[in-house]
Amino acid sequence: MAGKLPLVIVGASYAGTRLAATARELGYDAPIILLGEESHRPYQRPPLSKGLLAGSVAPGELALWGEAFYANHAIELRSGVRATGLDPRAREVRLHDGSSLRYATLALTTGARCRALAAPGAGLDGVFALRDLDDALRLHAALADATRVCVIGGGFIGLEVAASARRRGLAVEVVESAPRLLARAVSPRLSGYLERAHRLRGVQVRPGRQVRALRGDAGRVVAAELDDGARIACDVVVVGVGALPNVELAEQAGLLTRNGIVVDGFGRTSAPGVLAAGDVASLAPVDGDGSPPLRLESIHAANEGARAAASGLCGQMRAFGGVPWFWSDQYELKLQMAGLTRAGDTAVLRGDPEADRFSEFHLRDDRVVAAHSVNRPGEHMLARRWIEAGARIDAGMLADTSVDLKGLQPTP
Ligand SMILES: Cc1cc2nc3c(=O)[nH]c(=O)nc-3n(C[C@H](O)[C@H](O)[C@H](O)COP(=O)(O)OP(=O)(O)OC[C@H]3O[C@@H](n4cnc5c(N)ncnc54)[C@H](O)[C@@H]3O)c2cc1C
Repeated sequence: MAGKLPLVIVGASYAGTRLAATARELGYDAPIILLGEESHRPYQRPPLSKGLLAGSVAPGELALWGEAFYANHAIELRSGVRATGLDPRAREVRLHDGSSLRYATLALTTGARCRALAAPGAGLDGVFALRDLDDALRLHAALADATRVCVIGGGFIGLEVAASARRRGLAVEVVESAPRLLARAVSPRLSGYLERAHRLRGVQVRPGRQVRALRGDAGRVVAAELDDGARIACDVVVVGVGALPNVELAEQAGLLTRNGIVVDGFGRTSAPGVLAAGDVASLAPVDGDGSPPLRLESIHAANEGARAAASGLCGQMRAFGGVPWFWSDQYELKLQMAGLTRAGDTAVLRGDPEADRFSEFHLRDDRVVAAHSVNRPGEHMLARRWIEAGARIDAGMLADTSVDLKGLQPTP
């Protein structure tokens, strides 16, 4: 390894650590330097809005990898180091302390950050965003003294925060500007189900409403004012209005970006020697059908994008693939989602939403293209295999709970 220029990875989380580890497993033999601006070692992000906030998971349980991982893979982890500039021609990355690093290959795995609330009062004390461990620790501490929480944004993170705050016995209201919860991710039926589930557990849900302003007293938030004139009294506000990819390094260096750094199936950007993966990357469509690049924010996409990028780097060319999947835990409800839906797909219900156990299968030309399940893990895993195989399954069989799905023979 000595004397070789390194693979430098900017962003030490899911995509960064996976890319480093896969490169090693595939025989990459130059030094690997993993830069992370956070002071913490890489940690698991999903529990931040779930177990950590609800109090069932301690910060010490969040390490993404054990201590031995970095030594075993010969990865030099540098925490608390921020990359501030990039020169792809000179193959050099600049760091916050004024020093710079030369690289053979650079990987940008800088993830995403929270979109800010564009409303007066967004900077008041008591207003929180939730992206990293420090955010979560601050919010966790604030909830200990809070009585009323207003969550702005009825997406996955907003709803998970609402559920965790209810678990801690707080009064919770969720304000969502779209007419229904999770409107871009799930069907109207599933939106309606989740809205009912939250209401039944004591959350007040206000779809179709915008926050006009946050009001404070002595610098602390005391209320959210909505566009219909309603005023929600609260001592904590959590803003969950989406995430923006951290593309600044790439943009300054002239890389092609479009809602993320545009990459091909091997994580290659428009600049030679620069890869990208994870929440910051937008995957260009392979067939050039005119659809925009696809940016997925999920653990699966981060791992899969990183694996594909490492395979390309090591000459093994195993392109980004597999069925996209995602999960969300709210109260005792485990929501699992696989595949991607689009307008015109047929949704088939199996099971009983009233009993909090059901799946919704999405069919296109009789093939299962997506499945959204609540508390049906076995069925969901089966559906994932069908999606992967592009299997045709009869809609009537899917809906009929007397039919054992394991016994079904899908036609290819
Ligand atoms: C609260 C929460 C709950 C979630 N729950 C789920 C879930 O249940 N299921 C699921 O599939 N996904 C979930 N996600 C999404 C998932 O966590 C992300 O998709 C995943 O973390 C993306 O990984 P990544 O490595 O691309 O980016 P990130 O995890 O965002 O990591 C990027 C890292 O790069 C660092 N960085 C950025 N710029 C620089 C720089 N210039 N120099 C050095 N370092 C830099 C950042 O500080 C950060 O540590 C959740 C996300 C959040 C915030």
